[in-house]
Amino acid sequence: MKKMKKYICAALAAAVAITAIPTYSTSAATISELQQKRKNLASSTEKAKQEIQSIKNKQLSAEQEMEAMDKILNSIQAELDAATEDLNILTAQLAAAEAELEEATRKRDEQFELLGSRMRFLQQKGSTGYLEILFEAESFSDLFLRMQYVNDIMGYDKEILDELQKTQETIQAKKKEIEENRAEQEEVVKLQQKKLEEQQEVVNEKKALVASYENDVKKYEQMIAANEKADKEVLNQIAKQNSSSSSSKVYYTGNGSLGWPVPGYSRVSSGFVTRTSPITGRTESHSGLDIPAAYGTPIVAAEAGKVTYSGWMNGYGYTIIINHGGGLNTLYGHNSSLVAKVGQVVSRGQTVAKCGSTGWSTGNHCHFSVLKNGAYVNPSNYL
Ligand SMILES: [Zn+2]
Repeated sequence: MKKMKKYICAALAAAVAITAIPTYSTSAATISELQQKRKNLASSTEKAKQEIQSIKNKQLSAEQEMEAMDKILNSIQAELDAATEDLNILTAQLAAAEAELEEATRKRDEQFELLGSRMRFLQQKGSTGYLEILFEAESFSDLFLRMQYVNDIMGYDKEILDELQKTQETIQAKKKEIEENRAEQEEVVKLQQKKLEEQQEVVNEKKALVASYENDVKKYEQMIAANEKADKEVLNQIAKQNSSSSSSKVYYTGNGSLGWPVPGYSRVSSGFVTRTSPITGRTESHSGLDIPAAYGTPIVAAEAGKVTYSGWMNGYGYTIIINHGGGLNTLYGHNSSLVAKVGQVVSRGQTVAKCGSTGWSTGNHCHFSVLKNGAYVNPSNYL
């Protein structure tokens, strides 16, 4: 996987560069101004990328904090659920106690009513009520029994009433206790709800912060896109400048075949590709050859010519472009350092840069492109 990624040169760079390199020539003042503009855009883009990175770091730590907060939120929610369940149980117990109390009160009142009616009955009959019962006694022992009987009836009713009264009071006391417990539990639930709300607020604040980070990233991405657009416009201006001032001078003497740009390193890790993928339908393109070499290896001019570009180029990093005349240009990308200067006339095989991995590259290599009349062509046809 790492190996595959290693020498990938972005297709975007090709799209940008292709408008950039029709026949390069002088008109140096304006072109260097334009190139300065490109540099400024590139540094603004670089700053924006750094900002995005730092925002993304902040976002990451905010997200980690949010995760911890969510965990706390969940545990508070669990406590609230348990407290609510307890409250529900107490509420059910209270309802049962209320029903029980109602029943006990009803029974007590009934008994009270019964006793009352018995007493009223005896009262209505006056003393004869008792006496009738007593006078009907057939003997002393019978009389005593009858007296006992009257007493017992009254006493029994009274006893039952007392018993029911006690039961009613016990239930009332139990109900009161449940009521108090329930009130306490209600407070617990309220407290837990408040805790939950507070925690939710903290989480929401974090979420808003993360969202604002996303917004900030978008702004910088828009800035980068705007820079890229502006860069293309500058490149178009450079192209116009180049086409308006013709450079017919041909620097090479042979048939235009080119020398190998990285002496001592012959392996090509990625070749020239322009095709539409039969699978994805996307345009796959690689605008040159990738030649892996050790860091600092001399990169040499493939042919004699005039250096028209020596500087940073989006995607290609530190880049050299040499105009050989006759509409032929060569490009050397991802260098660690640049040796040749703009306007310098170089000979075939002369060192123009040192190998590196700047720009969109993940390993030391030379990206070598050949342009004929402003279009990328397969370097293999020239080597
Ligand atoms: Zn490449």
